[in-house]
Amino acid sequence: MMDRHSTSARIAVIGLGPRGLGALESLAALLQGQGAPLSVDVFDPFPAKGAGPNFDPQESATCLLNIPFRDIAIDGPAFSRCGGFGAWLGGRAAPDSFPPRADLGRYLEARLADLVDLGLLDMTFLAQSVDTIAKADGGWTLRAGGTSHGPYAEVLLTVGQPAVTPDEQLAAWQDHAAASTAVLEQAYPARRLTAKAADWTGKGVAIRGLALSAFDILRVLTTGQGGRFAQGRYYPSGREPARILPFSLDGKPPYPKPATAALDAAFTPLPAETEAVAAAIAAAVQDTPAGAEQRINAALAPAALRIMRAHGAAPAPRMIADWLQTEWSAPGQQEHGDAREILQNGIAIAAGLSPPTIGYTIGQLWRKWQNDLRAGYNSALPSPETARAILGFDEGLKRYSYGPPLTSSRELKALLDCGLVDLDLCADPEIAMTGSGWTLSKGARMADVSVMVDGVMPPPDLSRICADPMAGLVASGKVVAHGAGLSARTAPDGCVMDDAGRPLPGLCLLGRLALGSVIAVDSLHDCFGRAGDRWAEGVLRRLGLMACL
Ligand SMILES: Cc1cc2nc3c(=O)[nH]c(=O)nc-3n(C[C@H](O)[C@H](O)[C@H](O)COP(=O)(O)OP(=O)(O)OC[C@H]3O[C@@H](n4cnc5c(N)ncnc54)[C@H](O)[C@@H]3O)c2cc1C
Repeated sequence: MMDRHSTSARIAVIGLGPRGLGALESLAALLQGQGAPLSVDVFDPFPAKGAGPNFDPQESATCLLNIPFRDIAIDGPAFSRCGGFGAWLGGRAAPDSFPPRADLGRYLEARLADLVDLGLLDMTFLAQSVDTIAKADGGWTLRAGGTSHGPYAEVLLTVGQPAVTPDEQLAAWQDHAAASTAVLEQAYPARRLTAKAADWTGKGVAIRGLALSAFDILRVLTTGQGGRFAQGRYYPSGREPARILPFSLDGKPPYPKPATAALDAAFTPLPAETEAVAAAIAAAVQDTPAGAEQRINAALAPAALRIMRAHGAAPAPRMIADWLQTEWSAPGQQEHGDAREILQNGIAIAAGLSPPTIGYTIGQLWRKWQNDLRAGYNSALPSPETARAILGFDEGLKRYSYGPPLTSSRELKALLDCGLVDLDLCADPEIAMTGSGWTLSKGARMADVSVMVDGVMPPPDLSRICADPMAGLVASGKVVAHGAGLSARTAPDGCVMDDAGRPLPGLCLLGRLALGSVIAVDSLHDCFGRAGDRWAEGVLRRLGLMACL
């Protein structure tokens, strides 16, 4: 509770996943323990502090990072005694491996413990969920655990993806599962799903979603039940479902990342190409959607052409220009062939056995330019129209830039080969609810399942958020969407902005719920990047504490 006689400014951080940790580290790095009169209350009921649910150290080891070990660049501030993830692991991970997310979570917990131990910030941790945020004399008050806290001069929301009202399909399935023997489960926590799946031996299981979570779910249903992969084959334990049917709207699996550092290096842009792209992005965010497209395409195309030529492919420059143009108007729609063909092509390219396609090349370049994208985009607030266009382009390219490890794609292929996974109905099947489950169908083909696992991450749509305090902030109009289809309007330092574009002093939001005001949020690299630094600088500036440093 507030000590009203204290001269110390009080701030609150709500949510202590990786982004909350990154923000606290940024603040500590600026203050450098120089005794600034500032105290921080950190609220989060989740036990894995600093790791959050997605990197929960208790999570199943079958849940892998989607970044190879060699590319995990979250070394932390200079004061941190943990060093980078590699140093902390003591050289136990191979550079090309994709470590379990739980291992990364243990590292993040250690980073937080180190920050606490160094005493650079005066922090109090409250294992409570915040329900309400209200404007008050002297700042903001919070309600958590039935108690009022504050006022705080500054409140930072780093709450990840809060619960949303289910989409129409999921809501109908929830009712169906409640009224029948049909089983509907969420993908996470995967350790919970692993225990549930022990009852699914011999059953039909469908997976909604064919993106990264589908690979976690497939492992839960296979190696999680005692099976194993070896020499490109799957050896069942006998405890698996009879058949697994993943599906999505387009039915296309994502493309795996290049298998090794050497293969990956062939997609590395030259410094001049990166400079050109960084400049194009910085100018694009201030431009119209058409101008943004033209600038980004013009900067991307030469690098893609150079890399494809180096791989022995020689597409006409016009083909690359056409590919890029189509990608803006129909993001993610350009691959032809069925799911198996796309999977096999992706495996061959990632293993260096086939030359990369235009899409694969551009997707890898775009992955390597994610930090440049953030730097150019997040330091300015694009118009809603331009934001939608750039966001659409970035989201579409995720089928390449956020691809799984090659091993995951090979596992999917092995499961297809042995008939445990069936992709024949994977592209937007008709789905009917039946007495004991669901029937998936497409043309003459159909399959019955009694279990449905939902592996779709909901979009950060403010109007669907049902968890407080975000739901309350949206309902009261304090947090507004930057535009249709976009998430919260925030300034580059995370300050929440009202409908008229005025900042709400002292209320900040970082992460996925600000998508549109910021970009490329669904990555660890964003949690420990410049966004946290800008927030910390903004806080100290508003509190008049810059002079203390
Ligand atoms: C399944 C999954 C796997 C992923 N894998 C990767 C990966 O391999 N690599 C990668 O770079 N990115 C990955 N991501 C992206 C990931 O979202 C981010 O990297 C990161 O977890 C985001 O961190 P965050 O702190 O913003 O949110 P979170 O990690 O979700 O943390 C939010 C925290 O806020 C707390 N909270 C929420 N509401 C309240 C409240 N009202 N009061 C108090 N506390 C509250 C929650 O308990 C939680 O601890 C993955 C995401 C998912 C969903």
